[in-house]
Amino acid sequence: SQPRRVTKAKRPVSTDRVAVGDRVRCTLIDDLTGIIEEVLPRESTFARSAFRGATQTLITNLDQLVIVFACAEPNPDLWRLDRWIVAAESNGLEPLLVANKRDRVSEEEFEAGFMEFRKIGYRVIPTSAKADIGIDPLKAALRGRISAFTGPSGVGKSSLLNAIKPGMKLATGDIGMTTFKGKHTTSVRELIPLETGGWVADTPGLRQLELLAMSREDLALCFIEFLPFLEAGCRFRDCKHLNEPDCRLKDAVASGDLSKRRFESFLSLAKEMKPASH
Ligand code: GDP
Ligand code: ZN
Repeated sequence: SQPRRVTKAKRPVSTDRVAVGDRVRCTLIDDLTGIIEEVLPRESTFARSAFRGATQTLITNLDQLVIVFACAEPNPDLWRLDRWIVAAESNGLEPLLVANKRDRVSEEEFEAGFMEFRKIGYRVIPTSAKADIGIDPLKAALRGRISAFTGPSGVGKSSLLNAIKPGMKLATGDIGMTTFKGKHTTSVRELIPLETGGWVADTPGLRQLELLAMSREDLALCFIEFLPFLEAGCRFRDCKHLNEPDCRLKDAVASGDLSKRRFESFLSLAKEMKPASH
């Protein structure tokens, strides 16, 4: 439901001819083999920066990125959460936030951690794979759509996927451990059909997230609550939102209309994007 504003982001040409999620036209040779004749145009591409300015396509044709964090154990790292949201927005995907291990915290603690994202307009579904909380709303949010699960290891992604589709048998605890430590394991990259309709991809490659290189302007658009202020316009058209006078973003932070934490998150990501030119 979020407007897809980041249409200007310049994307380096990807060399990945075919990726998980692609729709292809193929000629079957027998029941198990075929030749891909054509990759149909992609509706969306989730890519990350790879080496030397190249991009790596992780998955295509996704409808939404399900960003899973834990309410506790591990405590949510909101800065990392912002990164993931930017990754989704910059790829034109709708982020769906899932706050798992809801059984571990009180209502107050849950709100302290995740309310700010609801205030911005993101959907946050509290879940517990252990205590069977929020599984039905999560299933409903996945129905009829293609979703990828992402988030730090240990937050309960595999447990949630198991709860969504019993019998899928993802090795709880193991996946994060083996795939993410840099060991040479084949990462499972496939789309899993859900009984209720829709598909889910567990994409281990998303963990060490390298954001796409973008301009400061495009990055600001990935912070969706900044949009009205950006549209109102700072005094300088090329405002970097740092030390310029009459900066709408800084004014909004000062008046409490924008979260200081999110603004600082933007500044630190902006710095990271262009390490050499400052
Ligand atoms: P992943 O690395 O994100 O796939 O996380 P796992 O699904 O492997 O879960 C990591 C650990 O958290 C396991 O020991 C799970 O049993 C535990 N866990 C998962 N979901 C919940 C939950 O909702 N509540 C609690 N208390 N523990 C959970
Ligand atoms: Zn400004």
